[in-house]
Amino acid sequence: FASAKEYDLVVIGGGPGGYVAAIKGAQKGLKTVCIEKRGSLGGTCLNVGCIPSKALLNATHKYHEAQHDFKELGIVVKDVSIDFGQLMKQKEKAVKGLTGGIEFLFKKNKVDYLKGFGKFASPNEIEVDLADGGKETIKAKNVIIATGSEPSPLPGNVIPVDEKYVVSSTGALSLEKIPKRLIVIGGGVIGLEMGSVYARLGSQVTVVEYMDRICPTMDLELTSTFRKTLEKQGLKFMLKTKVVGGSGSASGCKVEVEPAEGGAKQVLESDIILVATGRRPYTGGLQLEKAGLSTDKQGRIDTNDHWQTKVGHIYAIGDVIKGAMLAHKAEEEGIAAVEQILGEAGHVNYHTIPGVIYTYPEVASVGYTEEELKSQGIKYNKGMFPFMANSRARTNNDSEGLVKVLADKDTDKILGVHIIGPNAGEMIAEGVLGMEYGAAAEDIARTCHAHPTLSEAFKEACMAAYDKPIHV
Ligand code: FAD
Repeated sequence: FASAKEYDLVVIGGGPGGYVAAIKGAQKGLKTVCIEKRGSLGGTCLNVGCIPSKALLNATHKYHEAQHDFKELGIVVKDVSIDFGQLMKQKEKAVKGLTGGIEFLFKKNKVDYLKGFGKFASPNEIEVDLADGGKETIKAKNVIIATGSEPSPLPGNVIPVDEKYVVSSTGALSLEKIPKRLIVIGGGVIGLEMGSVYARLGSQVTVVEYMDRICPTMDLELTSTFRKTLEKQGLKFMLKTKVVGGSGSASGCKVEVEPAEGGAKQVLESDIILVATGRRPYTGGLQLEKAGLSTDKQGRIDTNDHWQTKVGHIYAIGDVIKGAMLAHKAEEEGIAAVEQILGEAGHVNYHTIPGVIYTYPEVASVGYTEEELKSQGIKYNKGMFPFMANSRARTNNDSEGLVKVLADKDTDKILGVHIIGPNAGEMIAEGVLGMEYGAAAEDIARTCHAHPTLSEAFKEACMAAYDKPIHV
């Protein structure tokens, strides 16, 4: 490989973890290349994840509002209908604009972009099967593996995904038509977001979930409110239910279910089945063994607290390592890993990674849930404030939900924030910032918030946690 190009940093995978790491590396003066096999940058998130799902959620929410909420506001609309083709086109336009934007950022920051499949030839050599044919081998002083994740099949692959009738989230984002009936297997974030999209478009949506509640890691108090609001929107839930078989074809889909603790089998019929039972790390074809690396039982690459694998110059970040599978977590790790490579103090506070569900209302949380505090014996004060008592929410005629703040009983330091309600995904940023700076509930309660805003509900929940709120 005498003539092989040598880079200070080779990033394998151009998702939120990889592309952010590549840009940061180049900004810091490292000669950097990013290898991406999919033909466009942005990874799962921009191509088949966060971005297209939010485009569909936004459009279908507006459709739902026009049908159900406008009248109350005195807005009369007639013959509201859906142009499904245009809905999909707008989604694709958003995706194209954003993925193209990253290519522009690569050029601007002088990141080389290799379109192709990267794999280890040795710990310091990466072989790339180029998308337009041929091979290229490059030398790497440092490598960041950011190869992400893929949808997990059902245990035992009892209903194989064909992306036509039995779809993963990827297929659900690009259905050819609105299904009359949709069965969603898995009551987690992705299943509920996609279930909401199609319920708003008129599909009869049934969510089958093995556990006794949806989103099992969510703060318990919020879960039942959340389920009830989704039920009001027409989603049906079959909890404590196990999927044992099924199939899908042009003539229809069948899902065989039985109670989780065993019992009589039942067959559910549908037009489309969405398998949304989680995602698993992806390292296929990477030839990790040639770099002296392997994966754990769950397929993850093991790293230390500095995102370093057991081979010192090879790092790994994002969905392919432990922790929450979230785009912003991958991005934080990307920057921190580059800083570590440069001998700087890259750090990620995993306790302040927010999680958001972009249904309506949205659900957002950061830090400990009440159940976690109880099980760890941490003493806490709890402050709750309903949007029903928030003037902006009432003005907007959109007052479902609440803010819940959990603060340390002795120090008043905020330990967790959980919000269900309008704009929860934006509002949680204040909780994250507060926790990152070690704020006490009283600090937020004494911080002036503009009136009338939804964020006053957060202030009042903090007032309730350390003293008393004003408006309830
Ligand atoms: P990825 O985004 O998976 O990127 C990895 C990239 O590496 C891929 O593009 C892949 O093609 C490439 N690659 C893999 N192997 C190779 C190889 N050998 N050579 C070259 N390239 C390779 N997260 C949020 O935070 N908010 C959301 O709202 C949200 N919504 C989601 C909705 C859906 C439907 C889905 C599926 C996911 C959603 N996520 C969301 C999760 C989010 O998409 C992921 O956590 C995030 O994309 C992980 O980033 P990553 O860089 O680790 O991996």
